[in-house]
Amino acid sequence: MNSITQICLTCGGGVNGNCVCDKRRMAICLVDNERNRQTELWGDVYYDSYSQAICTLGEEFGELCEAINETLSSKPKRPELAGIDNIIKEATQVAAVAVKFIEQLIMEQSNKEDSEDV
Ligand SMILES: [Mg+2]
Repeated sequence: MNSITQICLTCGGGVNGNCVCDKRRMAICLVDNERNRQTELWGDVYYDSYSQAICTLGEEFGELCEAINETLSSKPKRPELAGIDNIIKEATQVAAVAVKFIEQLIMEQSNKEDSEDV
């Protein structure tokens, strides 16, 4: 897992036991870090359509399922994807995609309300 995504923004600790915050805050920090990473990678852009958002969410959910399958399997096909660190990473990416979609929906709702006020 990328160490940047493991750092708690509140206390500076990591997911491996030295974060002093409650687990929900740590989880939210992971998702926020991932959203920042996505913005650095692709810019401050949103999905072209709801279909694109849902397909991206599905892709990330599939990667989460793969990480869990590889972890639980007695004969993993891709052992490099197994382990709790990768499961946390993929679950974080699922949540970050959902957060990005929520941000977009809020923005669209706000823009619609602004245009109706004119
Ligand atoms: Mg992923």
